[in-house]
Amino acid sequence: MKTFDIPINYRSELVSAINHKRKNDDKLKKDFTPTLIKIGRLEFKIARHFGFCYGVENAIEIAFKTVEANPNKRIFLLSEMIHNPQVNEDLIKNGVRFIQDTLGNPYIDWTEISEDDIVIIPAFGTTKETNELLKEKGINPIQYNTTCPFVEKVWKRGSQIGNKGYSLILHGKPQHEETRATFSQCASEAPTLIIKNLQEAKNLRKYIKQEASQQDFQKEFKDRYTTGFSIEKDLQKIGVINQTTMLAEDTQEIANYLKGIISEVHNSSDEDIKIHFADTRDTLCYATNDNQSAVKGMLQTEADLAIVIGGYNSSNTSHLVELCEEKLPTYYIKDGSEIKDEKTIHHFDFHNKKMIETTDYLAAGKQKILITAGASCPDAIVESVIKRVVEIHGEHYNLETILKQLN
Ligand code: SF4
Repeated sequence: MKTFDIPINYRSELVSAINHKRKNDDKLKKDFTPTLIKIGRLEFKIARHFGFCYGVENAIEIAFKTVEANPNKRIFLLSEMIHNPQVNEDLIKNGVRFIQDTLGNPYIDWTEISEDDIVIIPAFGTTKETNELLKEKGINPIQYNTTCPFVEKVWKRGSQIGNKGYSLILHGKPQHEETRATFSQCASEAPTLIIKNLQEAKNLRKYIKQEASQQDFQKEFKDRYTTGFSIEKDLQKIGVINQTTMLAEDTQEIANYLKGIISEVHNSSDEDIKIHFADTRDTLCYATNDNQSAVKGMLQTEADLAIVIGGYNSSNTSHLVELCEEKLPTYYIKDGSEIKDEKTIHHFDFHNKKMIETTDYLAAGKQKILITAGASCPDAIVESVIKRVVEIHGEHYNLETILKQLN
């Protein structure tokens, strides 16, 4: 896979050495066991896959190169570059300004943006409406576009299915930038509806079966369907696509459930079902798949707790947390500063969207700690968290000695 030129302060000698060794030992990416590192009484089990993905490194490279090459221009980002606070802060320090927040609320009025400015499209992509707005202002939306190719792949898949006459059921978080962009990009290709979870797929059943009214549908799925979406016409032939960072099992369960309902309604045989249900393999990206599989592999080993590192608005990170939480105490932190002392850790409860404090998160004696990080988390933060845990618990962090364990 292509390598990117990103600021050195995001790299980590430890993580690079681990990744290098694992890639060499497991070229086909079949081994999902974690990497073990022992430091004093602590054992760290580091996920086989975690951290910066293709799309994130691509976006960071483009953004920083754009800053470097245009010292006299005003540079704007449509919204957060990626869901990592450090990367976003670094861009702001370099003079980049955000036009809107992650929900699309404006920080800057569009009238302030002119054709002399540079506007960078983030890795999540953007809506067709925003592309049009940029063009109207004389700004080429393609010139500084960092939309991840794996997001564009979902748009293409949506378009292919739409062109065959299927409506699109988009499994995603309705407010997430990527889902808003995918919805907009797909809207002109096919009737599209966003659903959040399996429960909403189950709620859709009554509309597919025509057992509830169009008015009820419009109320229940307000602002999440394309103009003119008709339950009578547009729920007879469907396909499921998703936000690239959802939990793999969730999308699969939703697709299986909807396929079952469609099959029931049309009394379809296994062969006939294709007429009414598009055979969509889920559209998760490789990084989401790899990182989730690596967490599952890591969870099969013995451990006392898990630390998951990433921005608190990061969708893919929250799903890694969800997987770990099923098995053991899990602490979701943005960086090492959340580890306050040897007893106290501040961590994010993403279910209730609030920070919580836990004491005695690490008991005395031997401890086995699972470590993973979301696709927008710099390697350097992962290493700094390990270092913080080691030092705060009175052990000595010596990189050279640790690296020898990898040989
Ligand atoms: S998580 Fe996946 S879709 Fe998102 S930027 Fe990374 S590779 Fe692209």
